[in-house]
Amino acid sequence: MEELLSNFRFRELAFKVQKLKWCADWNCTTCGAKDLRPRLEKFTRAEIIEGLRSLSQDFVDNPNSLEFIIFCFYSASIFKNGYDLIEELKDTPVSEVLDRAITKSYRKRNDE
Ligand SMILES: [Zn+2]
Repeated sequence: MEELLSNFRFRELAFKVQKLKWCADWNCTTCGAKDLRPRLEKFTRAEIIEGLRSLSQDFVDNPNSLEFIIFCFYSASIFKNGYDLIEELKDTPVSEVLDRAITKSYRKRNDE
């Protein structure tokens, strides 16, 4: 199957965030992730999900990728809790990151 152009553009953006060290903090109160946010907003929810599915294990394992991946979860998740992404990202390298992110926020909520 031919690679989707949007996947290619998504990964290009992902590598740019890493290389240029763009802020990828969803809750950033300093810059509001000014470089990443408007560029990611050009992708539809489906394109972000497809893009996340296309990320390699190597990219996902890089600690510098974590904030970007989490940022994409927030962008694509309808209720911002990630639960609606579990099924769509199943059996991909990012699914593990999603599981951990959900468990963490769940624990945080229960600790309060
Ligand atoms: Zn920032």
